[in-house]
Amino acid sequence: MHLARFPRRFLAHLPTPLERLDRLTKELGGPEIWIKRDDCTGMSTGGNKTRKLEFLMAEAELQGAEMVVTQGATQSNHARQTAAFAAKMGMGCHIVLEDRTGSNDANYNNNGNVLLDHLHGATTEKRATGPDFNAVIEEVAEQMRADGKKVYTIPGGGSNPTGALGYVNCAFELLGQVNDSGMKIDHIVHATGSAGTQAGLIVGLQAMNAQIPLLGIGVRAPKAKQEENVYNLACKTAEKLGCPGVVSREDVVANTDYVGDGYGIPTASGIEAIKMFAELEAILLDPVYSAKGAAGLIDLIRKGHFKKGERIVFLHTGGSVALFGYDAAFDFADRWS
Ligand SMILES: *Cc1c(COP(=O)(O)O)cnc(C)c1O
Repeated sequence: MHLARFPRRFLAHLPTPLERLDRLTKELGGPEIWIKRDDCTGMSTGGNKTRKLEFLMAEAELQGAEMVVTQGATQSNHARQTAAFAAKMGMGCHIVLEDRTGSNDANYNNNGNVLLDHLHGATTEKRATGPDFNAVIEEVAEQMRADGKKVYTIPGGGSNPTGALGYVNCAFELLGQVNDSGMKIDHIVHATGSAGTQAGLIVGLQAMNAQIPLLGIGVRAPKAKQEENVYNLACKTAEKLGCPGVVSREDVVANTDYVGDGYGIPTASGIEAIKMFAELEAILLDPVYSAKGAAGLIDLIRKGHFKKGERIVFLHTGGSVALFGYDAAFDFADRWS
């Protein structure tokens, strides 16, 4: 597959490392756990949106955009990485933030990703939650165009066929790493939200006939809806690449048992996962995505779904900077003497 046919702005630090988690593996006593460090993609503390934005922002530049408009939750990692790309490329950036949690916490509303959005020069507005924020940014962009601006819109999470190319690329990169080191892997696990990561990965894996099952751990939508979203985007991405039909519906698997009370609301198992990764491996997860993904991984190991003798790659999708918007989710009174 020839990804160089598509415009791309090379700003990510790639390839991201693939590392073995010895202490976590030992603690859980199950499969050998490896981590693909897409939290280390480089742009403004990194994360998975950077791979997507390499393709999206190249398209924006090619279309002569002066300004990008995108949307996300208050602590959106996607919004922050978009603001960083816009800064680096000399474009304006406006972000419509959706209040999905109703939190009045000062750090949630101003620290973490929000602080970095503003540091990169982006403007923000907050709106009450609604059914279709991608439609909202199209309206916002139309207004700007009426005022004479050249605007490129990026859907939430950068999840369209252009953005998903970033994760087709990640599938190639990961397969290259494991093939080069003679390392057979049995499963890939990651947090899935706006679907672009899982859709791109599954297209890349299927196109290479990798025969590695991919499991997305959901953070918002119910299972049927999440799988449908991923499948639909995977089909469109495969069409864009000229390999329609490469993904079947049954290749798309999401487990949404770890969402808890809803998007952006921390769970006990997620907080446990954050502490385990931090204390055993010095790796920072975030409460919204990677912690729920890791909570799923840990629980499925404890239940024997992933077994001793297998080798799992957990794709770390980033988000650690959101920790600073979620300090209220932790109680460390017992760490003080
Ligand atoms: C956006 C995001 C995800 C989910 O990726 P999608 O492509 O939206 O499914 C997972 N983890 C983190 C940290 C994210 O910011």
